[in-house]
Amino acid sequence: QTGDARAASIPRYIRVNRTCWTTKEALKAFQAQGYELGDPLSSPKSFKQDDHIPDLLAFHPSVRFIEDPLYLSGKIILQDKASCFPAHILAPPARNDAVVIDATAAPGNKTSHLCAIMQNKGKLYAFERDRKRFSTLKTMLSKAHCTNVEAVNSDFLTVSPNDTNFGRATHILLDPSCSGSGIVNRMDHLLAAGKQQEEDDDSDRLNKLAAFQLKMIRHAMTFPSVRRIVYSTCSVHAIENEHVVRQALKTEEASTGGFRLARRAQVLPIWPRRGFPAEMDDPADADSLVRCSPGEDATNGFFVSLFIRGETDVSEPE
Ligand code: SAM
Repeated sequence: QTGDARAASIPRYIRVNRTCWTTKEALKAFQAQGYELGDPLSSPKSFKQDDHIPDLLAFHPSVRFIEDPLYLSGKIILQDKASCFPAHILAPPARNDAVVIDATAAPGNKTSHLCAIMQNKGKLYAFERDRKRFSTLKTMLSKAHCTNVEAVNSDFLTVSPNDTNFGRATHILLDPSCSGSGIVNRMDHLLAAGKQQEEDDDSDRLNKLAAFQLKMIRHAMTFPSVRRIVYSTCSVHAIENEHVVRQALKTEEASTGGFRLARRAQVLPIWPRRGFPAEMDDPADADSLVRCSPGEDATNGFFVSLFIRGETDVSEPE
């Protein structure tokens, strides 16, 4: 399948920013604009509510929202379906005493999603090490009306787990830099560049990225109060996904901290595409992992895992 064909099979997704209004209100507003509920790929006037992410709406790929007042005012966020999975799976609490970390935040789509799930309550620390991207993050958070977020221009690896504020975090989202190999090109002329990318991806680059990704998970596991860590990438390579998770489970941080993979029941159980069993030490662990395949799942390629500790897995008997 060409990049264009794949892109044409991916609806235009928008996330209703629950910080501003409800999905019910958004549905009504779009109907008032002339959209009708139906298969979004069948016509530019059809749209539907997503089956997996409650605040997500799917439109025809040709529909543009860049100049829509709802987008300009932050009431809707342009976000691919798969990239809504990490915050949904992390499921941070909506409580005044909640403390949550987004370790690699810019441009901030997942940060604003976490903020919406937390109903703008408690504290959400959003780290971003790159200065330019940090500035984009600040703009994005203000546009999305996030008031419980404190953006910090720091390298997460230098953040002390014993810090009086950050050390209280119970939930950490880790969506670090990756090869981006799951992103579907919307333009065919990029395919040649994509080919080159694949060759590069075979080399050293992936090993370096995987080593960095593992380091980030190990650091997150040293936070004393953390109970849930989501690790996600927009890569399709097992080396950045299953292999990183497999190694993370064998680290000293995981055994000292008592971390394990959450069972499928806690990780979007109704999503059918799971991890690659052959890439895990215990093939059964693959069921705990979520994968999205570009071109097959009407999303970009994506990977999500959830490490937990100290809580009864809902799929296990008491
Ligand atoms: N979660 C973001 C979103 O959904 O909008 C996308 C995150 S992007 C894949 C990874 C980001 O992490 C980049 O902006 C990168 O600069 C930042 N980053 C990489 N290493 C970091 C580190 N050690 N500490 C903080 N930020 C880091």
